[in-house]
Amino acid sequence: MTKPNFQSFHPQQRTLMGPGPSDVSPQVLAALARPTLGHLDPTFVGLMDEVKVLLQYAFQTQNKLTMPVSAPGSAGMEACFANLVEPGDKVIVCQNGVFGGRMQQNVIRCGGEAIMVQDEWGKQTDLAKVEDALKANPDVKILAFVHAETSTGVRNDAKALCELARKYNCLTIVDAVTSLGGIELDVDGWQIDAIYSGTQKCLSCVPGLSPVSFSEKAVDVIQQRKTPVQSWFLDMQLVMGYWGQGGQRAYHHTAPVNSVYALHESLLALQNEGLEQAWKRHQDMHLMLREGLEGLGLEFVVDEAYRLPQLNSVGIPEGVDDAQVRSRLLNEFNLEIGAGLGALAGKVWRIGLMGYGCNQKNVEYCISSLAQVLGK
Ligand SMILES: *Cc1c(COP(=O)(O)O)cnc(C)c1O
Repeated sequence: MTKPNFQSFHPQQRTLMGPGPSDVSPQVLAALARPTLGHLDPTFVGLMDEVKVLLQYAFQTQNKLTMPVSAPGSAGMEACFANLVEPGDKVIVCQNGVFGGRMQQNVIRCGGEAIMVQDEWGKQTDLAKVEDALKANPDVKILAFVHAETSTGVRNDAKALCELARKYNCLTIVDAVTSLGGIELDVDGWQIDAIYSGTQKCLSCVPGLSPVSFSEKAVDVIQQRKTPVQSWFLDMQLVMGYWGQGGQRAYHHTAPVNSVYALHESLLALQNEGLEQAWKRHQDMHLMLREGLEGLGLEFVVDEAYRLPQLNSVGIPEGVDDAQVRSRLLNEFNLEIGAGLGALAGKVWRIGLMGYGCNQKNVEYCISSLAQVLGK
């Protein structure tokens, strides 16, 4: 093997308006570049405690078991399923996009039985169908659903789904990867039992961490497991020995120390702006983007009543070359927008307005770039 001869990597400055990652602020990037501390250094442990409190604020919860899993959103998903699902457990999974399908795979790999409630991609999960499934399966342990379906741009009614789960004595697992920081989310108010998110969507941090939170009820269920969690790395009882409240911290794994600085910085931005204000900004910018997109003759594919402000799906007009438009935006305008996924591949564009990137400048840039590429 001859010695390679590469140079340092200096990416161009893109504007990221796809389904994530979103634009990371200079403040967050600066935090990432600060000196690395030992992962059990008392100064770093103090920072970990602040991150937990900041996450409790973002999730709106008092849950003690609230922390970032040291891996991306998909690992937070696995952490929730691996800890709560035991072999033979029944889980109702609502699917109206890509991510519900991944939940199903998680249930199966934990040895559970996934009972699917399917709705059309682009439509909301039908509460009546969920209630029918709950009635038909009185021994169901968990109801799992995606709050903000990034693959379609649909907001599922998390509050109502959690109410239904409680009515039928079920725990809930909620995917909040794209919802956290972008739309209303109230973990304690809605009594969510297990929730996971990601850092690279509306928190506008670098990818690679997954904030999670478990209710006391969920923690009890985990502590009363009959079988050990099949994943050593994601076993929350072990992870808590490292991220635990006060007292001694034991080595479990080496936290991605600098990424935790970055998460802290991005959560400070949310704290300083205020949650409600952040939600309002996403809605306001969405309305501005919508006006511009409709001005270009593009049509939204999701009903206004349950449209996500942070993920805007519009139909690709007849005769327009999907891949060519996206590559011209990237190459000529340094602008990334998202392609359709799964059932919507080739049919829609997904335009993200997430976190730091959710601002008037980006909205205007997106509209003017699209206008040029579409020849309007
Ligand atoms: C992005 C996303 C995930 C996966 O997160 P990764 O960080 O890519 O692993 C899961 N669920 C939803 C709804 C997402 O948008």
